[in-house]
This record gives sequence, C-alpha cells and structure tokens, in this order.
Amino acid sequence: MVLRPDPLASRPPALELEAAQRILRDAFGVEAALAPLAGERDQNFRVDAADGRRFLLKISNPADGASIVEMQTSALRHIAQVDPGIPVMRTLPTTAGGQWTQTPGPDGRIYPVRLFTFLPGRVTTAVALTTQMIWSFGENTARLGRALRGFFHPCADYEILWGIKHAPKLRPLLAHLDDARCRTQLEQVLDRFDARAAPALPGLRAQVIHGDMSLDNVLFDEDSLVSGIVDFGDMSHAPLVCDLAVAIADVLHGRDDAIEAAEPMIDGYVSVTPLDDDEAELLADLVAARLAAEVAVTAWRVGLFPENAPYSASGEPAARAFLDSIDAIGIDTLTRRFRHACRRLPYRRAATGSLLQRRRLALPRSPLFYQRPAHLVRGQGVWLFDADDRRYLDCYNNVPVVGHSHPRVVRAVTQQQRLLATHSRYLHEAIVELAERLTTTLPSGLDAVLVVNSGSEANDLAWRIAQAATGRGGAIVTAHAYHGLTEATHALYPEEWAPLERPAHVATVPAPDGYRGAYRREDEGWVERYAAHVEDAARALGDRGLAAMFVDPAFTADGILTPPASYLEQATRRVRALGGLVVADEVQAGHGRCGAGLWSFQAQGIEPDMVVLGKPMGNGFPVAALVVRSELLDHVPEETELFSTFGGNPVACAAALAVLDVIEDEGLASNAADVGAYLRLGLVKLAERHGLVGEVRGEGLLLGVDLVNDQVTRIPAAGPARNAIEAARERHVLLGVTGRALNVLKIRPPLVFQREHADLLLDVLDDVLASSVR
Ligand code: PMP
Repeated sequence: MVLRPDPLASRPPALELEAAQRILRDAFGVEAALAPLAGERDQNFRVDAADGRRFLLKISNPADGASIVEMQTSALRHIAQVDPGIPVMRTLPTTAGGQWTQTPGPDGRIYPVRLFTFLPGRVTTAVALTTQMIWSFGENTARLGRALRGFFHPCADYEILWGIKHAPKLRPLLAHLDDARCRTQLEQVLDRFDARAAPALPGLRAQVIHGDMSLDNVLFDEDSLVSGIVDFGDMSHAPLVCDLAVAIADVLHGRDDAIEAAEPMIDGYVSVTPLDDDEAELLADLVAARLAAEVAVTAWRVGLFPENAPYSASGEPAARAFLDSIDAIGIDTLTRRFRHACRRLPYRRAATGSLLQRRRLALPRSPLFYQRPAHLVRGQGVWLFDADDRRYLDCYNNVPVVGHSHPRVVRAVTQQQRLLATHSRYLHEAIVELAERLTTTLPSGLDAVLVVNSGSEANDLAWRIAQAATGRGGAIVTAHAYHGLTEATHALYPEEWAPLERPAHVATVPAPDGYRGAYRREDEGWVERYAAHVEDAARALGDRGLAAMFVDPAFTADGILTPPASYLEQATRRVRALGGLVVADEVQAGHGRCGAGLWSFQAQGIEPDMVVLGKPMGNGFPVAALVVRSELLDHVPEETELFSTFGGNPVACAAALAVLDVIEDEGLASNAADVGAYLRLGLVKLAERHGLVGEVRGEGLLLGVDLVNDQVTRIPAAGPARNAIEAARERHVLLGVTGRALNVLKIRPPLVFQREHADLLLDVLDDVLASSVR
C-alpha cells in the first residue's frame, strides 16, 4: 500500500493567473489567455491559445506527488490506446519532451503541472439529464472500466476516503454531523456495509478504476452523448462495480426519480460489461455507502476549509435526499430492483398489462397459460422469476430438463455461437459427436441420426421414413396422443379430428388406462385386451396397411399412464406382425425424466424402430432428433435430401451435448427416480385426505394426479383441476393439466427438483385441493 497524504486534507493550489501563464509559456511554449475553472483539489485553467486551439492547464494538488501524476498520465495513454473512442484528455508534452513539469508554489510546496487537450461539451445538472444521457453515462463508465482492465501502476494501491471500499473509515467523521437523524441514517448504512459489503468486496473483480464518475467529471455533447471524461485524480485499485455505484450515487442525486433513473444507467453499463451476481447483489449497498461518504466527508470538510464550503457542500442535500428515498422504499427492495436491472434483457422491458394487450393483438392465436398470465423474465434451476422479481416454483416444464439457465448449457451455447453457427452441410465435430453419443445410449440397431429443430419435425420425418420403408400408408396412435403441429403430425392428433373427419390413413387404439378406460386393472387380461386393439385399428386402415404406430411410452397426453411393460411389448409384437414399425416418441418422457435411464421405452422392454427426441434436448435451445435403424433409410430415395437449415447446427449440437453431460454428471435420472418416488408418496398421502384425487400415476418426475368428482364413478373433475392450477399459480407454483378431459394435474418439473421443492408443491396442493372442489 502506497502511503500518500490525503489530497482532500490538503489545500488546493492557488497560483496567481500570471504565474500560471508564465509556467505555460516557459514549460509548454504556449502563449495564451487563461480562464480559471472549478476544481475541488486541483487548480484548473482553460487555455485559449492565440491560434484558436484550446487546452486545459492542470496544477495538481501537491498531495498528488510525481508518482501519482505519472500514474494518471499513463492511464490516460493506456485508455487512448485500448479504446480510442473513449473521450479522455490527451497530454501535451513539455518543451523538454516530458509529460509534465513541476513548479514551486507561493506556499513553498511543489506543484505538478500538466497541459491537456480540451474536451468539448458541457457539464450538466442531474435534473437536465435525459434517459439517453443517463444511458450513455452508464455505457461510458463501463467502457472506461474495460479500457483500464489491463492497466497497472504501483501507486494505484492507495487509500482515498471517497473510495467506497473504505466506507468503514467514515465512522469517525459522523461526529461532525449535527443532525442526529442523519447520523443514525449514516450509521445504519455503515452497519449494513460492514455486514454485507465489506466481507464480499475482496471477492469481487478489482482493477484500477476511475473512482469518481460523477456529474462534474463528465461532459455531454449536443446529441446527449458523453463527450468527455475528466479528473482521474481518484483512480485506485478497487472493485470494478464501484465506478457504477459512484455513477448512480453522484450523477442521479438531485433527481426526484433517482431510483428509477438508475435503471437506464445500469442498462447502459451492462450493455458493455455484464455484472456478476455478487456485484449486482451489492450495488444498492455501495450506492448508499457512496452517498453516506458524500454527506460525512462534506460535514468534515466544511469544518476544515470553511472558505470552500459552498463548493464542498453543493451535493450534500441531494445526497441526503437520495438516502431518504432509499430508506423510503427500503434497501432490500432497492437491492432487488438493482439486481433485476443488472440482468439486462436484450429487448425493451414492458409493463405486464400493456404487454398482454399487445400480445393479444399481435399474436391472437398464441395460447397463454392462466387467467392471469405469468410475465416471466428469467429462470434459474427450478425457479422462474416474473417482471417484479417474484419467484415461481416450476413444476411444469420439461424443456429446461437440467434446470433453467443451467450455466454449462449457457456456456456451451454462447461459446459455440461466438465461434461458428452454420448449417450442417459442412464438416463439424459437434453434430458427429452428438449422433455418436446418442446412438451409444440406444439399442445397437438404432444407429442412424437425423438432427432437426422440433419434435413435430422429427415425427414428421419418422412418418415419411416409415411410409418409404414399409411401402404402406397407415398409422396408429393412441386415442389422445399428440405428436406435433405439422400437417402430417396434426393428422396424428385425434383430439382435433372433428367427428367423422378421422383422416382415413390414421386409426386409434385406446390408451391403456387401467383406471377409467374400457378395461380396468381389476379386469382379467386387461393389458392384453388393450394391446389387441392394434389389430382392430390396423383393420380400420384398410388396404393402405400399417406403416407405423407412434407411441409416447408415458402416454402423457392420454393422462400420464403407467401400464405394465407387457402392454408395449405386446403392442409392438402385434405391430410388427402386421408389417408396421414402432416409433417411440420420447419428446415428453425422455432425457432421464422417468428415472430409469435416459429413455422411457427402455423400462418397457421394447426396441423401437425409430426414436423421436425433442423438447428437453437443448434445455431450451431448439434441437430435436430422430434416431432410426439405418437400413430403414435405404428405402428413402437417394435424391431425397434429409436436411433442414438449422437442424444440427453447431450451436444446437453444443446445447444438446451439454445437456447430456449435465444429466450424466449431476445424476439427474436417478434424482428423478428418487425425488419422483418421494413426491409420488406425498401425493398418495394427499389423496387420502382429498376426495378430489382419484388416482396418482406416473414414473420419476412425470406424475399425474387424476381429479374426480366422485371416487366411485371416476367422472373426471375438469373444473376443479383448472381451479387448482389457477390457485397454485396465485401461490407461485406452476402446474398444468393433461388427459382427455383435462382433469389430470400434470407434474413435470426440471429434473434438478429436490425433496424440499416437492414439499413446497405438496403444501400448496394440499391447500388448493381443499379449495378447488367446485
Ligand atoms: N411429441 C410429443 C409427445 C409432444 O409432447 C410434443 C410437444 N408437446 C411433440 C411431439 C411436438 O414437439 P414440438 O412442439 O417440439 O414440435
């Protein structure tokens, strides 16, 4: 640590104009008129040379010795080299070729003197700042931090009272405050700083920072953009985020809407340098500490230099007002708001009400969940957060299979996006590695992979391949299956067939529902009787014959069913006997969800001819795949190009590979088995208390709670199911419904779901089931 006299405790230089003019002439060879400019601890003059050029002459406080001046000067050179677009002053050499000169002052002290280029622009007041100016301020603060990233100087390790990290040293200054309320307020800020910020600061990224990004030190041009950043006198090695905290505190104080105005400042900053979570978490405390410093140091300095009082005290009432407004909303709320603002959205953030209106107009056919749609802005693990930063337990989404925003997937996607994002007609490792990786997880016959963009597309391709390979034209699906939205897969969606409009090439079999279906668990041979429907369905296809049966092994859209393995074994045998193929659609149940391995068909003892993967495959990045027996592809004409532009692009493949890695490394399939069994048990216990629950079904973390109006008649209770998910949404637990009558609560969370999350869900369900009977 370099010891240096505190420049704030040292009287600013006060050279006579003539003396300054003389130095200018003797040391820099410039003959000019000088006009004094304001300065807190240095003496500054505007220099208007006879030839029209304009400079700034800076006589530094002697507390800033030669080494400090040297540091500042090299920092300016460094910034200009790294990012020449940042508007900082450039030094002009002395006639002797140096970067500065020194002169003895009338008080006998030695003053460093420098001549700089003069930056155009004007200083402004807090209230005159437009949102654009605030944004630009934030952006330039971040750019400056970036430019200084690689800068080092031994003198940067010094202490200055203004530096936020030294806030605890303000305590003795509080004695200078006459106002007891203000003293208490500052004590609270410092107490909180000691408790929260001080222990965390050493862990934040640190570098040489400007240290005083305040309104006095930044100039704006006519276009409301920053045209100058001056005064590097407070530079020191400190946490990077302190520059943003100073900017918010010192630039926005004096505005009634200081807190609101912090958002564009943060937006501008994070548009260049995203903040780490730890930095975002402390931002409000650092702002408060900076405001406290302003109030405390002012009280102390006014006592020291009464003649400088108007200058010293100018910002103090505004700093106090800002502190009051922080107290009014509460520092915890401000912390949340800042944290939220730090997570910059790549688009304009809208108010929920108007967003809903705009969405209904612009996307009239895009369905939305819940009567009060949730306006979500981010997710993490099993949690989703809305625009007000309220969190919701996600018990519904299988796409974020390894948890929302899993850092490994995010990293894989961003790194690959940065490197290469093309289509798959070039040679690239990712798609090959993905295909090889997938086939090793599947039975050996399933050896050829097609990577596409959605489950619909994969099923659509499966259908084409099935027809080509079998020379037949008929398909079988379960009665309430869903396999996609393309024209071909929509035909496989019986729920949307209008009466009498069954596509002639598709026939259904009843899903093996042992609870409410035609054959029940208590019926002799019920499984075989369901399987025997395959022949009936094939007959209904007539002469076109059976090309394929598509089946979701967890029967998710049919209400989440778990028949014994013998059902799919027998159905598969019958399909094959009829010359058809079996397509296992793992879009819902795959990627470890059912707990026993990656793919749900594996526990059913079948080997499908094709497997469709989708939704969870990229944890939110669109990627899907069809895995087939390669000999089936031999029947697809050579000239048919099985290619889609985005399918298998390197970014999608990087996401898919990262998902497979995480599932494996974090043991998510066994977590699904473990937490799923725990949750299932809890649901069964709930069922004992709630007559509304007819049955609990499912495997792993794909569970269904079948609601009934009456335990005996088993009439589906669709209304109560809808009420239950609406009520759960109000309790910040997100669920869905499924099944023919939409009476089955669908529980399908990210696989990082833990027992504590299951407990929370069970508590909420306990409440909402009690109140959702009608
Ligand atoms: N198959 C199943 C079993 C599905 O649940 C879905 C989507 N819900 C699809 C296919 C279609 O997938 P996508 O929406 O990605 O086209």
